Amino acid sequence: MAEAEDDSDIALRYIHAGLRLSAQEADRIRQDSLKRVLGSRKLLLVLDLDHTLLNSTRLDEVEPEQEEQLQRLLHSQQEAEHKSLHHLPQLNLWTKLRPGVHDFLARTQQLYEMHIYTHGNAEYAVEMAKLLDPSKRFFAERIISQADSKEKHVKDLAVVLGTETATIILDDTISVWPEHQHNLMQAGLSPYLAGQFQDAMHHMSSFNGL
Ligand SMILES: [Mg+2]
Repeated sequence: MAEAEDDSDIALRYIHAGLRLSAQEADRIRQDSLKRVLGSRKLLLVLDLDHTLLNSTRLDEVEPEQEEQLQRLLHSQQEAEHKSLHHLPQLNLWTKLRPGVHDFLARTQQLYEMHIYTHGNAEYAVEMAKLLDPSKRFFAERIISQADSKEKHVKDLAVVLGTETATIILDDTISVWPEHQHNLMQAGLSPYLAGQFQDAMHHMSSFNGL
């Protein structure tokens, strides 16, 4: 007999369509996850997309002069190994990755199991993950989008399946994490992420007792 859905169940559609776990089962997985990340000496890092790892602008919001500049930049980086600017007509977007983001992810993944967590929709989240991580070595399928959150404007670590004490969040918007302020560091306006992240990590480590 199928078990009745409980309000305390946690929906995990980003892992598998229709997947729901009871609160107890989710707790058990969190404990397993804690053992795994501590065993691998990796903590969990939850990364926002917009204004944290990248910026996106709708095609129709770009002035003609800017459009010319963007097209020139797009052309100039044709041969680049890691392209920074992307023209995505299928999403009606220009997307620019944060400078140095690829190095940041490559270095950070040595210490953290990384998740994307965005309030954009699932299609946007997956397309951005392809730009940041085409070979899926940084995030694999750990890509959480708006439909995975229980509340529309709130992000919640319940869907991340990591123990709170082993999880750090990097997001430019602190108000979407009302329950997890102690895990949170704010992505600043400086275009380069790596230095900020290291400074903030030093602070967070002592703060969180990690
Ligand atoms: Mg953001």
